[in-house]
Amino acid sequence: MELSNLKTYYFLRKGLFKRLVVRAVDGVSLVFREGEIVSIVGESGCGKTTLGKTSVKLVEPYDGKIVFEGKDITRMDGDLKWFRRRAQIIFQDPFQSLNPYHSIFDILKEPLDNLFRGEVDDPTEKIMKTLEEVRLAPPEEFLYKYPHMLSGGQRQRVNIARALIVDPKFIVADEPVSMIDASSRAEILTLFREIQNRRRTAIMYITHDISTAKYFSDYIAVMYAGKVVEYGRTMEVIKNPLHPYTVGLIASVPEPDPENRKRFRPVIGGEPPNPINPPPGCRFHPRCPKRFEPCDKIEPQLKEVEKGHFVACHLYE
Ligand code: SF4
Repeated sequence: MELSNLKTYYFLRKGLFKRLVVRAVDGVSLVFREGEIVSIVGESGCGKTTLGKTSVKLVEPYDGKIVFEGKDITRMDGDLKWFRRRAQIIFQDPFQSLNPYHSIFDILKEPLDNLFRGEVDDPTEKIMKTLEEVRLAPPEEFLYKYPHMLSGGQRQRVNIARALIVDPKFIVADEPVSMIDASSRAEILTLFREIQNRRRTAIMYITHDISTAKYFSDYIAVMYAGKVVEYGRTMEVIKNPLHPYTVGLIASVPEPDPENRKRFRPVIGGEPPNPINPPPGCRFHPRCPKRFEPCDKIEPQLKEVEKGHFVACHLYE
């Protein structure tokens, strides 16, 4: 999956003649390779969920290009079945994203019916195998249950199973652990790692929590106000963050040790930018402790400053 200079804008009407433009994603270029997990990290409102939805064509891009398995799918509309079989999304909220009136069997059979009409020899066996893969075992115990009969962690496993059942090559996981209890989080993240190892699936992992990205992904892309401001191998970005925003995100992670927890302090002050009216120059400059002369006038571009480590900041020009 290759995203090139991808832009997703929303146009809002204000009054009779005025039109407002929300630049949710504003020129993002990223590559997702087989068997790799790329984390998209940033505060809420930075455009990461819109990026995920645009990449699986749930939202139409305004500009830029999406290439999947060598095929330009940017303007592919109408029959998206080919793409839907290969690219799936897992939503944040395991409570809202499952139909409460459908059994787990029906929920998992639906994508097979919609995308593989008649092509799967034994749908029940496929459903059972997928339930086992997401550790809902024995599967017979879950097949005819309804979502309200499951815990939050189990519901999220059903969501993952619904995505996996079509054997996708690319998965967007949008904050998949943010709404489940802490005890299930590590298990779900481990499950994603296993899926990625076993199936060689490319995964876009969207999170506001850079600490989960640290243990989980191969690459990190830090987003701010619709743009990627830093990108590189996960440990390189975590150990050697270059952009002041990434430095702030990492420093804001609470200490796991309760003794040291008092050291936690939110280090990024100020309001996140308004995507309707981003500031001129570097979009982070109103909050940046290191801003200097050109920052409020000239927008920095993403540049490779160390091998494989990209940053958009005037400090590194
Ligand atoms: Fe801060 Fe300037 Fe770098 Fe933006 S370009 S992050 S304002 S130092």
